[in-house]
Amino acid sequence: MPIETNIRHFLKDALEARIHESWLSSYNMSYVAPIQHLVDWQFTFECLFHNIDDALPTSRQHSSSVLFKLQNLNRALPTLEWLKLRQPHIYSASWFCCLCNTQKETWHHIYSCFKNAQSVLDIRDRFFKRICDQTDDLAPLTVYSTWQIMSASSSFSFNNAPSDQFSFIHLINSLVPLSITTTMAAQGLSQSQIKDILLPAMFALSKDLYNLIWKPRCDITIQRQLSMGLSQRSKKIKYRNRPTSSIVPPSSQRVPRASSLDKWSSWVHNSLVFGTNWLNFQGLLEYIQFPIVLFR
Ligand SMILES: [Zn+2]
Repeated sequence: MPIETNIRHFLKDALEARIHESWLSSYNMSYVAPIQHLVDWQFTFECLFHNIDDALPTSRQHSSSVLFKLQNLNRALPTLEWLKLRQPHIYSASWFCCLCNTQKETWHHIYSCFKNAQSVLDIRDRFFKRICDQTDDLAPLTVYSTWQIMSASSSFSFNNAPSDQFSFIHLINSLVPLSITTTMAAQGLSQSQIKDILLPAMFALSKDLYNLIWKPRCDITIQRQLSMGLSQRSKKIKYRNRPTSSIVPPSSQRVPRASSLDKWSSWVHNSLVFGTNWLNFQGLLEYIQFPIVLFR
């Protein structure tokens, strides 16, 4: 029954396209609109759920690696600014980035803090060098070296890139630019060769960002919290037993704050256990729309 199958496929595609659209138009994803046409979405979503460690796809390690990529995609890492919104009785407005102590710690600041500048550039260079070297190994007779082409593209630029151009900050978001995949194809690589290079490279990029930027940041922030008498335990106790005289008026407590993160984690977990189409964003939307609910 080919017609019925086609209609079913069509409806499924249409629904997925609609979900993709509403996800992209959500608050956290507004940064994507100007560069949407420059993203290789197929590769982006393959990379999001790709894992080269031999861990089972349902393992905790895999879940946390996917979660980190998705948090970067949605610019939703639990930074100090994020914590201030959720636990204002613990995190005062005067808390700044624990590395430089001069700026508010937003998602963007994590990667643009001047204390991290050299590390981010090193991570970028390592990522591009890896892709270029491996491409040139497979396509040795091309006129221009892949490095020559890639380092001239906007996806290599990091600071002061116009918002309508794909820059390295978008690679940190876990997005794969079309400029990389088309360059590799133009150098003579097949789709499967591109995939074999790109999936591990994107995985290594995310791992570098985690190990060299986010993890050290967390260690320093926890040290600072401890020095102020905030242990992991006391943060939880204070949060659960928030006094009614808390600085947060009861009217603004209508959103159960912890549940959004739970939903978010269970969405990632379920998608890993039960599998997901690359556009299965229904669960994701609930999480992303949370910041809008918070300010309502
Ligand atoms: Zn800083």
